[in-house]
Amino acid sequence: AGPEVTEPELAEPHLRAVLGTAGLAVEYVRAQDNTLFRLDEDGTEIPVVDFAGGYGSVLLGHNRPEIVERATELLASGTPVHAQFSRHPYANRLAAELNRIVHRELGTGEPYFAIFANTGAEAVEAAIKHAEMDRGMRLAALREELAEHTASARAAVAAGTATVTAQALGRAGLDAAAAGGDFEALAAELERHNAEQFARPPLFLSLEGGFHGKLAASVQLTHNEGYRAPFKALAAQARFVPRERPDALKEIYAEERRTVRDVRVVDGRVEVTEREFPAFCAFLVEPIQGEGGIHVLSPEFAAEIQRFCESVDCPVVVDEIQSGMGRTGALLSSSQVGLRGDYYTLAKTLGGGIAKTSVMLVREARYRKEFEIVHSSTFAKDSFSCHIALKVLELLEADGGAAYRRAAERGEALRRMLTSVAEDFPGVVKEVRGRGLMLGMEFHDQSGSASPALRDAAAGGLFGYVLAGHLLHRHNVRTFPTASALNTLRFEPSLLLTDAEIAQLEGGLRDVCAIMRDEAGERLANG
Ligand code: PMP
Repeated sequence: AGPEVTEPELAEPHLRAVLGTAGLAVEYVRAQDNTLFRLDEDGTEIPVVDFAGGYGSVLLGHNRPEIVERATELLASGTPVHAQFSRHPYANRLAAELNRIVHRELGTGEPYFAIFANTGAEAVEAAIKHAEMDRGMRLAALREELAEHTASARAAVAAGTATVTAQALGRAGLDAAAAGGDFEALAAELERHNAEQFARPPLFLSLEGGFHGKLAASVQLTHNEGYRAPFKALAAQARFVPRERPDALKEIYAEERRTVRDVRVVDGRVEVTEREFPAFCAFLVEPIQGEGGIHVLSPEFAAEIQRFCESVDCPVVVDEIQSGMGRTGALLSSSQVGLRGDYYTLAKTLGGGIAKTSVMLVREARYRKEFEIVHSSTFAKDSFSCHIALKVLELLEADGGAAYRRAAERGEALRRMLTSVAEDFPGVVKEVRGRGLMLGMEFHDQSGSASPALRDAAAGGLFGYVLAGHLLHRHNVRTFPTASALNTLRFEPSLLLTDAEIAQLEGGLRDVCAIMRDEAGERLANG
């Protein structure tokens, strides 16, 4: 062997160091099915059961043979991977197949147009941009209509067929005596008021605990302060709606609704009316919050959100990036709670654990074809990822949807185990949540533990990571806390999950629960 070359560490050395404090900075050298392999000191492979599942991108398993075979075929046959601005029949086929499944699950026939992208956050950004473009076009139409009404009222006043009443001036907020029935004073005041509304930035709604990505716009819809606050100045803001509190929607409506003032001539009088202004650009919802701690949206709250959005003409963006693609037993987990989106975002497993791809779907009634001319990416809609995604859908749909049923059944088996652990450690486990293969276990706060190691981990904001380090080193199990709720461990394995793998996780969880119950942090691998 030659002399050892030590490269300077430049690819996020700080992150590696942070992971290292919890023993999580390990290298995986191979991946197959539900297993990642790392090497021990002698270079022997140690299999690690993967419950993190790429945080939801490998529902079908790591390096799933059918997908690897398809990828190999595509590359060997010289598929034109990059051919931006040409006809993409494979993208169209993928959009059609997504529509077929979505129609079946939603019981609708309305077409959903597809905008392809590369990552989850990018699909969210596309949805945000599209929603704002649509709102902008609705604003322009409204503005034009208001201008037409002003012009015809002005003409009627000039022709002497209409007069400006004190009531109209009062409604516009003018002092009737001072304005003296002057139409131009009225028109100027309406224009001033309306211009103020039109100049306001769009308002987005998102749920507390919501996670929609970390790009400049999408991170403003991600609730976690640490991710969002440093970039506040970069993009439009969201209001965060408390989960499962329908009253909150009424309060937000009362505080955020805007109106513009319109003039009409009725029975020879100029009248001023208030009209609802499209202030709300989009409401982003995860059917099951992933990074926020595995919180399932209830059908009741889903219906409230739907009603609210209909009443203010605000599109619903259902972010299925983590929950979708079969993980909970359906392509759209929102279809299981009766939530209907104007937009859907899908990513992660859409690329089969191999390609990087995502898609934003928009229903026809909201679709603006102009978007296609102003939004693109060098890499999106490429033949390689479209064909891989088609293979993913084929695998999900095979045998009458056996994969969906398997995800639901394996999820139930995993959930039974988690529930039994929770029942045996009631003082340690707070709750088991989730659906299908998207499950979480929340632990009680350990900052009052008699064990310094547990107390420090809880205080240092790394609690779930310390548990994950122990599970990795002592039990060969990989899991992670959710990004914004560190007391919750997530379990998002592939649908190849075996009973033996569930038992292996159970051994690990019972061990960490006993350590917490016994306040014995010194028993932790990195304690
Ligand atoms: N939305 C949701 C619901 C997610 O879970 C994630 C990723 N965890 C994203 C968006 C962002 O996806 P990506 O990491 O591919 O940008």
